[in-house]
Amino acid sequence: MIRTSLPVKKALKPRKCKSCGTSFIPVRSLQAACSVPCALAIAAKQKAQKEARAKRDERKSIREALDKAKTRGAHLKELQAAFNSWIRLRDAGLPCISCGRPASWQGQWDAGHFMSRGSSPALRFDPANVHKQCDPCNVHLSGDLVRYRVNLVKKIGLAEVERLEGPQELKKYTIPEIVEMKTFYRAEVRRLKKEAA
Ligand SMILES: [Zn+2]
Ligand SMILES: [Zn+2]
Repeated sequence: MIRTSLPVKKALKPRKCKSCGTSFIPVRSLQAACSVPCALAIAAKQKAQKEARAKRDERKSIREALDKAKTRGAHLKELQAAFNSWIRLRDAGLPCISCGRPASWQGQWDAGHFMSRGSSPALRFDPANVHKQCDPCNVHLSGDLVRYRVNLVKKIGLAEVERLEGPQELKKYTIPEIVEMKTFYRAEVRRLKKEAA
């Protein structure tokens, strides 16, 4: 039997080239590009994406390894930074605890300890012991503790101030506890910032 006509291959529907966006009629069902240059462009883009992914993964594993290797001191420092940011946000609307400089002041605000970290390490992260303070008071007047105490009594009451001034049992935080506190204060900072925005 002689064929009178070749079987007609069903033409595929036109599609958009994944590279240049023009419409073309593919000859293969999985064809994504309209032309060789476009096919090469797509391949190059995929290669770049793969490399970027590999780099990202590498950076992530380096970061994780560094985090694991972090010392207790490094975690404490990060916790102190998160805690201090939280204090500044908690007291955002309040004046300086020592001199009463108003919240509208545009200078540097600190988180000032009433009982110093050196003399009372147990109170380092006690929210009652740390309040928003202007940098001039904190740094140049060493906290201006006389006025700090007067205003602190007004703010948290004499009993709380006397608790801070009394004997403290030093608690040595473990790294997981420090990390947990850090996570907590970082989340609180994000929440307060969102609230303020
Ligand atoms: Zn194309
Ligand atoms: Zn001040």
